[in-house]
Amino acid sequence: MLDIIKLLPDSVANQIAAGEVIQRPASAVKELMENALDAGATQIDLIVKDAGKSLIMVIDNGCGMSETDARLCFERHATSKISKAEDLFSIRTMGFRGEALASIAAIAQVELKTRRKEDEVGTKIINEGSIIKEQTLIPMSVGTTFTIKNLFFNVPARRNFLKSTAAEMRHIVEEFTRVTLMNPQIAFTLNSDGKEIYHLYAGNLKQRIMGLFGNNYEEKLLPVNQETERVRINGYIVKAEFARKTRGEQYFFVNNRFIKHPYLHHAIENAYMEMIPKDSFPGYFLNIEVDPADIDINIHPTKTEVNFLDVKLVYAILHAAVRKAIGQHNLSPMIDFEESPNPDIDFGEVVKSGRSIVQPTISIDENYNPFNQPVSGNSRPSFQGSSFHPERPSNTGDWRLLYGDRVDQTEEKAPQENQPKSQYMQVNQSYILTSVKSGVLVIDQHLAHMRILFEKFQKQLENSGGISQQELFPQPISLNLNDASLLKELMPDLENLGFRLEQANPTTFMINGTPADSSGTDAVTLLEKILENYKINRTDLQLDRKLNLAKTMAAQLSMKPQTPLSEIEMQHLVDQLFACNVAEVAHNGKKTYFMLTIDELLSRFN
Ligand code: ADP
Ligand code: MG
Repeated sequence: MLDIIKLLPDSVANQIAAGEVIQRPASAVKELMENALDAGATQIDLIVKDAGKSLIMVIDNGCGMSETDARLCFERHATSKISKAEDLFSIRTMGFRGEALASIAAIAQVELKTRRKEDEVGTKIINEGSIIKEQTLIPMSVGTTFTIKNLFFNVPARRNFLKSTAAEMRHIVEEFTRVTLMNPQIAFTLNSDGKEIYHLYAGNLKQRIMGLFGNNYEEKLLPVNQETERVRINGYIVKAEFARKTRGEQYFFVNNRFIKHPYLHHAIENAYMEMIPKDSFPGYFLNIEVDPADIDINIHPTKTEVNFLDVKLVYAILHAAVRKAIGQHNLSPMIDFEESPNPDIDFGEVVKSGRSIVQPTISIDENYNPFNQPVSGNSRPSFQGSSFHPERPSNTGDWRLLYGDRVDQTEEKAPQENQPKSQYMQVNQSYILTSVKSGVLVIDQHLAHMRILFEKFQKQLENSGGISQQELFPQPISLNLNDASLLKELMPDLENLGFRLEQANPTTFMINGTPADSSGTDAVTLLEKILENYKINRTDLQLDRKLNLAKTMAAQLSMKPQTPLSEIEMQHLVDQLFACNVAEVAHNGKKTYFMLTIDELLSRFN
């Protein structure tokens, strides 16, 4: 009998293996760029033609290879990056399986030029389909250039499988983006069909993001820095107000390696959740650094997956880091409340801040008799003393506000001192207006109150600080068995919010106490609403459950539009709003206030 088992020739084995590592031109781009990084290059240039289908060239100024290594690097399992098995766990370089170049050479025509600084000349090798066709010495500068021509030339099935040039180019740009993002200290260029697409200078991460996505990112980014014993998180998130309708810039790295991690993505989305509309996506560029022993990277080079030993811990830290970044941004002192209710406009200031005031041109009427009219000598418009008089707009007369310079100062001051000065004005019983240094603040009272309550309930849920008010006549709430068990599940959280519930029988609870903020709201309706929302958004994540509870409570208990407010109530609301971590938006993503700046006001009268 003849033996029927045969060993595959190397070239065939390589071709088959190559299919796994090199799926498309972008995979080759990634491998070559990562090799250049591992070689310590400070400048890496990528040149492609036809989205890499006909040419991929990567030029680096890294350490280069010796003549022997230049031949060896095409062998399967040839790598300079791993020698001991234990290295597998501490490895931080990009690739270490020694497969990429063998795979590429199996399915393309490869030209390698390389020179180390200690060598006088470089080596040039041509390898086609795993066969070395040519080897010569050449003069060249230190570094390595790989030129890949006609990818899949000997695997037509794969070549035909490639997508359109535009689609393959998108993949290349995506790989280029991932690699360059995590290496901002290195300069890169990308040239496609003779056109330079990116020219990235060495710099920091922020500059790199701007280089890749546009200079307008300067104002869009919020830094994230969080360091704990086991985990370090660094990078930037995009401010909530720039969230996009399409899933855009979402870049997650673990130890500088791009990964996809839906669970951790959720931690970020969750931290934003209350700030961006439902159909928008947050942007982020974050690197999570952990001890390599704490993760299990699927070492397949094309996979972008990683398992954490303690993923819940990473989730919590990431969530906190993003929340903190958002909170700090919103705490920044952008609104300067005035100590005095008089909005004295200093025109000198306005000029300094970049606006120029044009001197009006005056044509002189020669028949004009100055003694016929009471005109003061001061031609500068002055709003001094024209303070904000809510509810009494006609006291001084409109003309005086418009022609303040013609008003006798003593006459103007007099009525003011007798009137109580009001700092707040309610419009349509729904909006609060107040004057601040840089303009007029317009606050939506309903949305502002929702934000205040939301943060308050969130805190109570975390620290069990809810105050309860006892019910004089405890009310029963009757539920079906299913809802009754849900209510029991929520009981500890509800206690924290101020509810005092007692189970009377399997389906009935007595409401003995309700949250201090809930007076005026029917407790049964409130609990039913909470159960309803809990069922819709049911999740096993602690964070989500509490978030949903806080949202429901805030939505149910916030004051509605068309609620008349006293001066004191308005002041209280505004103070509380700006004491919030995130004052700008309600949990439904709507803005709580906007500012009418002095510049805007000025432009209205120009
Ligand atoms: P790996 O990167 O996993 O080691 P590769 O097949 O990608 O495997 O590369 C094989 C080896 O070739 C590398 O370990 C390295 O020694 C060498 N090499 C590849 N590219 C370069 C480069 N641009 N500069 C210097 N050496 C390189
Ligand atoms: Mg490699």
